[in-house]
Amino acid sequence: NGFVQLGLAPELIQAVADLGYTQPTAVQAKAIPLAMNKGTHATPFVDLMVSSQTGSGKTAAFLLPVLHTLLEQQAEAEAEARAEFERAVAEAAAKGEPAPKRNKRKDPTNPRNFKAATPGALILCPTRELAQQVAQDAIELVKHCRGLRVANVVGGIPYQLQIAKLQNANLVVATPGRLLDLQRSMQIKLDKVQFLVVDEADRMLDLGFSDDLAEVNQMTSQRQQTMMFSATFAPRIQQLAMRVMHDNGAGVK
Ligand code: AMP
Repeated sequence: NGFVQLGLAPELIQAVADLGYTQPTAVQAKAIPLAMNKGTHATPFVDLMVSSQTGSGKTAAFLLPVLHTLLEQQAEAEAEARAEFERAVAEAAAKGEPAPKRNKRKDPTNPRNFKAATPGALILCPTRELAQQVAQDAIELVKHCRGLRVANVVGGIPYQLQIAKLQNANLVVATPGRLLDLQRSMQIKLDKVQFLVVDEADRMLDLGFSDDLAEVNQMTSQRQQTMMFSATFAPRIQQLAMRVMHDNGAGVK
């Protein structure tokens, strides 16, 4: 499978194989290694501005690297928690005390405990239909990832239903209007968002979401990486990019 060369986690390779993808598309082959920083860049994550049409495979081009990094972070947290437990066991043994019990609720090897209180990744889409499609794709791609959860935040769905699903979501796919509604009513916190993707940025501006994007930009102050996908790079898109991206941006055409 051609996705193996991109350095993606086995869980994700398995998911793309299940979907019947054998080779990355052109935009995937270019954007995924850059986004995962398999390159010569000094910064941990680079910002990307990607020119891509619908049908190019752009959705997986941003979902796969984001999911890969979330998985990596989860594995690191798990290893850290395990090491801490082992240290506590060794310390107790040295003092001749009984070994500490594993706290089941905190046990990182228990899949039920992989819960993020606030999302680490946010994908913004201009329309409800697109957000639902992207969320569907994300759900397919995480199917072998223990503990990665996807939530969809769009208008037209009862709030209660959405809030329940949001609680443990690591990756949120949203339209800006409903996202900011939930943020204002304190149902979602955006300050843990590390990865922000703006999908179809040109349509986002056409639909008047410029101020909403600026607001999300402000709220995600801990952000490490921004990726903008757009069919065109008209000057207004570049102005938006200058507002929301760091100057380590790498363009992908
Ligand atoms: P998108 O441009 O993201 O809307 O994707 C267009 C279509 O291509 C979707 O139906 C995907 O499921 C499919 N697709 C994405 N990546 C690949 C791939 N590497 N191989 C085959 N099909 C793909």
